[in-house]
Amino acid sequence: MKLYADYHTHTRYSHGKGSIRENIEAAIEKGLKEIAIADHGPASQGLTKLGVKDAATLLEIKKEVENYDKFYPEIKVLSAVEANIINIDGDLDVPRFILKELDKVLVGFHLYIRPSSWKDGINIIFNNTIMSRLNLKQEEIRYKNTDILIKALNKYKIDIITHPGYRVNIDTSTLAKAAVKSGTHLEINESHMHTTEEYLRIAVSEGAKFSLGSDAHSPDKVGCVDNSLDLAIKAGLTKDDIINVC
Ligand SMILES: [Zn+2]
Ligand SMILES: [Zn+2]
Repeated sequence: MKLYADYHTHTRYSHGKGSIRENIEAAIEKGLKEIAIADHGPASQGLTKLGVKDAATLLEIKKEVENYDKFYPEIKVLSAVEANIINIDGDLDVPRFILKELDKVLVGFHLYIRPSSWKDGINIIFNNTIMSRLNLKQEEIRYKNTDILIKALNKYKIDIITHPGYRVNIDTSTLAKAAVKSGTHLEINESHMHTTEEYLRIAVSEGAKFSLGSDAHSPDKVGCVDNSLDLAIKAGLTKDDIINVC
């Protein structure tokens, strides 16, 4: 199996180190046929200044991407976002009219975001950091996290959930079932490498499909998914289970 598309790369528009053009050229060098520019949504600006300045910036990125797509016929360049969930109702930090303009919508359950309200902050940030570390309310937190993600899947057309279960306790089998229903792919993320064989086996047994993502924050990491690919093979996944390998 060989990667042909990397749908999860960051640029200087959020907290990546390279430009869109540098990511594209790195992808071409690695022999990829498709690349998506998926910078962090604006709620990541809240605590850590990791996101795009505002949601409208995603339209600027789209314009740039369209120009490069014409300029580099050897690769398909897609505009995307790694949007944030900002409340317990599963709402995202990017308005629908902007999401509709993008080629792909990735969603990450990130903890260091600007939540919609104090209550959302407690459920998303406090519960998954302080409470989890103290090992309190694990079952309740797991139930709530899974519920929040499923609400997002039901509300929006989401292509990929990035790093599911990274720093947030999630019920894999429930999430996988919901993802199959909504046609959403679950990512195997190279940067965080938190995924386990057991997780993949459970998710695939529910019929989930996966996307390998470099989550590159610098051009030299674009298309690097070796560890994710090894893990997928160990868990018995085949080409039919992964959308971006050939
Ligand atoms: Zn992420
Ligand atoms: Zn990312």
